[in-house]
Amino acid sequence: MNTGDATYIKKMNRLILIEELIQHMTLSRSELSRKTGLNKATVSAQVQELLDDDLFIEKVAGETTSRGRKPIILEINGQAGYSVGIDIDEKKFFFIFSDLKGRVLHRDEKPLENTQLSLVSSEIIEILQPLIQKYNDLYSPHCLVGIGIGVHGIVNRKNEIVYTPKEKWTKENIAQYFEEAFNVDTHVDNNANLSVFAEQVYSEYISDLFCVTLYTGIGLGIIKNHEIYRGFQGFAGEIGHMIIETNGAQCTCGNLGCWELYASDKALKKKLASVYPLYSDHERLQKMFDHGGENQYMDEYLHYLAVGLNNIINIFNPEKLILNSPFLNAHPELITKVEGKLQSKFNNYKEIRVSILGNKACAIGASALALKKFLGVSTLIHANYHYHI
Ligand SMILES: [Zn+2]
Repeated sequence: MNTGDATYIKKMNRLILIEELIQHMTLSRSELSRKTGLNKATVSAQVQELLDDDLFIEKVAGETTSRGRKPIILEINGQAGYSVGIDIDEKKFFFIFSDLKGRVLHRDEKPLENTQLSLVSSEIIEILQPLIQKYNDLYSPHCLVGIGIGVHGIVNRKNEIVYTPKEKWTKENIAQYFEEAFNVDTHVDNNANLSVFAEQVYSEYISDLFCVTLYTGIGLGIIKNHEIYRGFQGFAGEIGHMIIETNGAQCTCGNLGCWELYASDKALKKKLASVYPLYSDHERLQKMFDHGGENQYMDEYLHYLAVGLNNIINIFNPEKLILNSPFLNAHPELITKVEGKLQSKFNNYKEIRVSILGNKACAIGASALALKKFLGVSTLIHANYHYHI
């Protein structure tokens, strides 16, 4: 074996141990050896390095062993650092700070005054600066390990924004502003991709997972064989622009009758504002539940929702399909009604459910992405921690 091979194997073993400990939360050295198949000497040497690097910590477990000694268990050292996730939405942004164990430390939402990318970046950096100083003191020695940014548009494989329909950002390198300000790696991705990634990490670790985000537009995040599926140049999942009415309303994308003009949260609110002009947003949504929910606008909305879902299901045959929409998240009982409208014999899936992460999903996914890149692991599973987010 040459030195290159040995170094590579050592690195792979280290990542395997990190992944295993993240997934199981606490393990002893012998449990790590048993679960990974690595011999005890290798585990022992690698664990010592990970302890020296402040990525693992040791604790004494509560129970006493048969020989009368309390076993030493290992955990990820959550306190050793943190990552930041940012979701840049229309005129506002959400952000999340989470520690090395993925526990959310801080979350907030702030308005944005500008639309030009450099100014938007400056606004966000100014708000984050004092918080990052504060958390650098509390979470050391690694401090801020990375930043993830979600944008509502197309992002290419080179970490660049290709296009955002609302702000009209084209060929922009947003990461550079954050890397200059905070001197850490910054990773950019599409909001639907980061939302499905958050669901995978925090709620549903399965190999193929699909998440439809229905907010101002509609996006589809696809996890295929544990990885985000992006297509040829990052455009995969632009499902909001799937045509469902061939002579329908004009969309900004250039086509007529795109799904998001009928089934996004924005489309629902717009429709209700036109039929119930004298009511508030909240009252309009409530009116849909009058007469036991037998409301024509409710029926129309769920019909359009089901048409799009029918197409997604027929293309992908998903095991699980998560819907993330403010309206549906607040009314998970409507899933049964939507399913009642999926009548094709080819509509095969195991479960459709609403998101438990809601509008925080993208920022959480962005923070998790930064953590995953920092650790260098191929899988990140925080579902077993049962965090209340
Ligand atoms: Zn369109």
